Amino acid sequence: MTNNSYDYRQDFPLLMQDRTIYIDNAATSQRPQSVIDAEMDFYRNHNANPLRGSYPLSVEATDIYENARVTVKNFINASSTEEIIFTRNTTEGLNLVAYSYGLTNISAGDEIVVSIMEHHSNLLPWQMVSRQTGAALKFIECEQDGSVDLDKVAALITDKTKLVAMTHVSNVLGRENPIAEVAALAHAKGAVMVVDGAQSTPHMAIDVRALGADFFAFSGHKLMGPMGIGVLYGRRELLDKMPPFLSGGEMIDSVTRDGAKFAELPHKFEAGTVNAAGAAGLDAAIKYIQSVGFDYMQERELAVTRRALEGMKNIPHVHIFGSDRAEEHTGIITFAIDNVHPHDVSEVLIADGIAVRAGHHCAQPLLAYLGVNSTTRASFMFYNTEEEADAFVKSVASVRERMG
Ligand code: PLP
Repeated sequence: MTNNSYDYRQDFPLLMQDRTIYIDNAATSQRPQSVIDAEMDFYRNHNANPLRGSYPLSVEATDIYENARVTVKNFINASSTEEIIFTRNTTEGLNLVAYSYGLTNISAGDEIVVSIMEHHSNLLPWQMVSRQTGAALKFIECEQDGSVDLDKVAALITDKTKLVAMTHVSNVLGRENPIAEVAALAHAKGAVMVVDGAQSTPHMAIDVRALGADFFAFSGHKLMGPMGIGVLYGRRELLDKMPPFLSGGEMIDSVTRDGAKFAELPHKFEAGTVNAAGAAGLDAAIKYIQSVGFDYMQERELAVTRRALEGMKNIPHVHIFGSDRAEEHTGIITFAIDNVHPHDVSEVLIADGIAVRAGHHCAQPLLAYLGVNSTTRASFMFYNTEEEADAFVKSVASVRERMG
């Protein structure tokens, strides 16, 4: 069956229920049956504590968990599985870097550079490091269309800069940031590059080495995998020198009354019983993405995003944040309607059976920079349809009238 003739929606049990027009995919995507099956299969047929027992079930559980690591390594083109740490989500991965790398390598007089576009998950950890170490926190601002001026970035990164943290794709503007270029500027000054990949991994092929990412964090649930499993990629030389983030079981080689010898990578950073079922689901999600292919996914996402954007351009009083070009939205359309609160906008859409997100999208500094407190956000995935985009536009067009 070719991509063009196969209806991928039938792979998603929840989409088949026709309960809602789901365009809140940047918050979390839907899961195909293969992901649900993989997670269930772990508990039904292979459940034991991985990495602990030497009996067959535990070995099976370990194999499933470690095979998922190989899948992830290949998915993002890491050099080795030692560089792949399973976490709960993007937030945990970024905190791991902040607590373990940040607090040991950054001190008073140093500078940390972040972008104004960061989700709070890639901002609060650096605010914490700045507070605890006395390092200064500096912001890369963006232009109105969401683009980043590399000359301004170059001026901001100095010999004092120890770390640059930036999102690959903004969860509000949907625009892809020039990570490779920013990483080159960071590296030229001896700083490490931390990348938040939460919104890019569901939509584009990732090559952490080509990006120049020293650390790259993402969440399984945004790329059609389970909730509660995420990944932190870190360059091996850096991870090797970093202290554990959490300590306890599983992350040790040996323990005495006085101390412990930590386990080798990546287990040094995976304290306690791991989420092996989640890893199995993530493995299945990545294989699902590979079976569909990013080319096809991008083509579909662009088609529905373009259709929605074009429809919205004709509606008076609607303002779209970011670029005019659908190609620069990664499926995300954040907008405001004059004199209507974003929560009221989303209520009207809900009344029409459409699920979108209203609020600050965990990016309050960006919204303040854009001059708003909150907005409404629609976010499309490859399984959304033109009919859904049209229904969304129709509903948006009716908002002002329906709010009286
Ligand atoms: N970073 C970005 C850009 C996001 O969009 C999100 C989630 O919305 C996160 C980080 C946090 O992801 P999680 O809640 O899975 O840790």
